[in-house]
Amino acid sequence: MSAPRLEIDLGKIHHNARTVVDRLAKRGISVTGVAKAALSSSEIAHELLLAGVSDLGDSRIENIEAMRRADVPTRMSLIRSPMISQAKRVVASTDISFNTEIAVVRRLSLEAQKMDRMHAVVLMVELGDLREGIMPDHLVATVRETLGLPNIVLKGLGTNLACRSGASPDDTNMGELSRLAELIEATFDISLEIVSGGNSANLQWAFSGADTGRINNLRLGESILLGREALQRHVIDGLHTDAITLVAEVIESKIKPTQPWGNLAENAFGKCPVVKDRGAIRQSILAIGIQDVDPSGLSPSKGIEILGSSSDHLVVTSSVGGEAVGDEIMFQLNYSALLRAMTSPFVAKSYEWGSKVSKLRQIA
Ligand SMILES: *Cc1c(COP(=O)(O)O)cnc(C)c1O
Repeated sequence: MSAPRLEIDLGKIHHNARTVVDRLAKRGISVTGVAKAALSSSEIAHELLLAGVSDLGDSRIENIEAMRRADVPTRMSLIRSPMISQAKRVVASTDISFNTEIAVVRRLSLEAQKMDRMHAVVLMVELGDLREGIMPDHLVATVRETLGLPNIVLKGLGTNLACRSGASPDDTNMGELSRLAELIEATFDISLEIVSGGNSANLQWAFSGADTGRINNLRLGESILLGREALQRHVIDGLHTDAITLVAEVIESKIKPTQPWGNLAENAFGKCPVVKDRGAIRQSILAIGIQDVDPSGLSPSKGIEILGSSSDHLVVTSSVGGEAVGDEIMFQLNYSALLRAMTSPFVAKSYEWGSKVSKLRQIA
């Protein structure tokens, strides 16, 4: 098999998705599957649907268009506010878009009229994380104008927390979203189908037994792919954290000093790394680098330590010895490492059902 590669265990992803879908269903909450960290690969998208997510969402129109071409059969939402320059594509390929700017909704309305289609919108409300969202004071006015736009349907409200500033979902902000949903329904005599409370950072709140109020949807990516909630990165009970594994190949393995020599200045990335002198050790170079992955987001298998990295090389050492040229070393990835590896054209993606870990040569 080619290296480097991501080994993606669809069985584990299925299990993770099914588990959160079932647990949230008991709280009256549906799950919109978000596989944007995996470029919304159609393999993963299909698996999420088989596992019971109600629909799919992505931040990028390109990923949604790719899922359409792959005939992924479900409702799809653009969960980032559309670029006005992409309004036509958004109406053509998505069922719902999440919006915060009335100018964009007006353009969506125009494009929808031209295409003789209806387009649904969810309006996002700012509740403290200071990323996207309409300020609560302006919500009634924005809803009023939205309701008057031809070919636009107001599907619901949403919010997003814990992404830019780390503002955590709690009874106060979730209660505020419920209250706003009720206010909009009462003011305009309408009913909102979707009240989408947030992302993987909302799971602790959702599982805590708190009153979920009007919240009936969460948009989940990281928790399904990596098995962790997104506030403290705690493992979610019963979920796999190793559904996705990175494998890289050793291209050099030699005993070298731990300390560089010569006149030391900045390295390729503007850093002057300081290293503790541990004498001579075996260092192995893997054919993968900063272009392919965020090295700080990698957890190597037991006994392996990452020493350094540059664009195309990752330098490791092993306390158990034995790396040989051609050996493969495995890593678990955090969200940031996963994003970059998934996006690198140099990293192969290999899908499997059920773990094949035992077939790989491991050093630990
Ligand atoms: C990425 C994203 C999500 C999913 O977030 P995870 O932390 O991966 O669950 C949900 N909503 C919005 C608006 C997003 O951009």
